[in-house]
Amino acid sequence: MDAFDYIIVGAGTAGCVLAARLSADGKTRVLLLEAGGSDRTLYIQLPIGYGRTFFDARINWMYDTLPVPGLGGRTSYWPRGKVVGGSGSINAMVHVRGQRGDFDDWAAAGNPGWGWDDVLPWFIKAEDHDHGANDWHGSGGPQHVTDISAVAHPLCQTFVRTGQALGFSYSPDLNGAQAEGVGTYQINTRNGRRASTANAYLRPALRRGNLVLRSKAHATRIVFEGVRAVGVAYTRGGQSLEARASREIILSGGSINSPQLLQLSGIGDAALLQSLGITPLIDAAAVGQNLQDHLAVSYFYKSSVPTLNDTLRPLAGKVKAALRYLVDRGGPLSMSVNQGGGFVRSGPESERADLQLYFSPVSYTGSPLSERKLLNPDPFSAFLLSFNACRPSSRGHLQIASADPFAAPAIQPNYLSTEHDVGQARTGIRLLRSIAATAPLADIIIDELVPGHHLATEAELLEDFRQRADTVYHPTSTCMMGPDPATSVVDARLRVHGVTGLRVADASVFPNLTSGNTNAPTVMVAEKAAAMIIEDSRFDFLR
Ligand SMILES: Cc1cc2nc3c(=O)[nH]c(=O)nc-3n(C[C@H](O)[C@H](O)[C@H](O)COP(=O)(O)OP(=O)(O)OC[C@H]3O[C@@H](n4cnc5c(N)ncnc54)[C@H](O)[C@@H]3O)c2cc1C
Repeated sequence: MDAFDYIIVGAGTAGCVLAARLSADGKTRVLLLEAGGSDRTLYIQLPIGYGRTFFDARINWMYDTLPVPGLGGRTSYWPRGKVVGGSGSINAMVHVRGQRGDFDDWAAAGNPGWGWDDVLPWFIKAEDHDHGANDWHGSGGPQHVTDISAVAHPLCQTFVRTGQALGFSYSPDLNGAQAEGVGTYQINTRNGRRASTANAYLRPALRRGNLVLRSKAHATRIVFEGVRAVGVAYTRGGQSLEARASREIILSGGSINSPQLLQLSGIGDAALLQSLGITPLIDAAAVGQNLQDHLAVSYFYKSSVPTLNDTLRPLAGKVKAALRYLVDRGGPLSMSVNQGGGFVRSGPESERADLQLYFSPVSYTGSPLSERKLLNPDPFSAFLLSFNACRPSSRGHLQIASADPFAAPAIQPNYLSTEHDVGQARTGIRLLRSIAATAPLADIIIDELVPGHHLATEAELLEDFRQRADTVYHPTSTCMMGPDPATSVVDARLRVHGVTGLRVADASVFPNLTSGNTNAPTVMVAEKAAAMIIEDSRFDFLR
């Protein structure tokens, strides 16, 4: 049997950070188990390639939720990375830390050490930012952050000026001193290549002999001796295997799989586990609860000036973009299509920004979502505007549906199940239409393609929202951090309540969803988790 100091389950955004940090001394033996395979493929490494990985079962768990009442009974498709780099290998690379208040909320919920002033140094430590080192940003860290403001499509400036005309301020750095306002997004790329944590942290760390990455290794159960986690059972190449950890096991399987593995291992709602034939180890009803996610809708506009559609759709445009990329790793292939956006208040009563905006200088009204052909946009000039509520109050849940570790769990996001969230949907829809009706954007709009002006009343537009709104792929909080084992899964040091030798460190521990995209805060959580684990290892003699 293999023996290590630490076993990390999941080589995703968080797992790659933990693997690099825990093995940094060159001595500590770390095993990183990943269910998926290699991330060395063109469409993962080429930034705009994420359209292709969206539905690729070879590298994607491809979950579907249960029917969601708030979406008129529709299910929602939830891609998650099943590959080295995890969802960070298939995401849209937008780099947003979240708001000061998000983390102050984490601390106020009984999690000392997680307020904004506590977490900012970990964001900075992770970064190698285009802006260089200053009070807000880091230089020389593993994760490169690219400021695309000078190279984004020119229409992003039109969007920004429109936002200013509506009274929103311009933010030159949505991760800096002024996180509120409109601007261009920063992205995780380096020299025109995706800067996932697999590229940024894991790849260099694998040169050390003390870190072992085992891909295509699906963890099926945590092995316990009493209430102490001592190993992980996994399958690889058709074989059932087991590895042992003398210090700790860290789950970084993400918001769907970490709670799933806990439940499969006997940590979950005892009645549920018993009904599925699993012997409960710890009755932990909070596992899989508190599921939170961002829900967005897009409005599409035909434009009188060229957009990315005109660059990417024609064959000549594709060839030009490819040549440009080959010459200097620049141009549209080196970026996300989510280029402009920001964080704004939905009204004077909002204490802080509560709506996130996206401006993408591209449109896909012709192809169904199930195709997501980013390199085949509409054959006419058009763009899209999109919004989501930053901090929805709807809470969903997930749970295993059988004792089979390869079966997908049942996911119920419960979108739009609160009056607050329905109200924010109404406000956001009004805001999108106001932006489109305001110069200079209004001057270049020929028509609203989707949903179209035949929908005019608030009721019609809300119904359209229920019919078309979808996830922004940010599920969190299913192994929520908190002081009370009855309502949370891990404590403020990310140790699973009720057992020893087991932590969770990934997006599932967020006490609440951050106001923006979730990759950067997941990196922060992993950086801080690794430091806490190393710090706690000094007290190993107490075990
Ligand atoms: C399509 C898409 C677009 C997104 N766009 C953005 C964006 O632009 N900006 C942003 O900030 N965020 C974005 N996100 C969200 C962001 O990528 C995630 O929040 C982040 O990657 C979560 O990291 P994680 O470590 O919690 O989980 P993941 O990165 O999902 O990692 C979990 C890993 O664990 C592995 N695993 C799971 N179960 C097992 C098991 N039983 N055995 C072994 N291995 C296992 C998985 O295969 C995976 O590699 C997007 C996500 C998606 C899917």
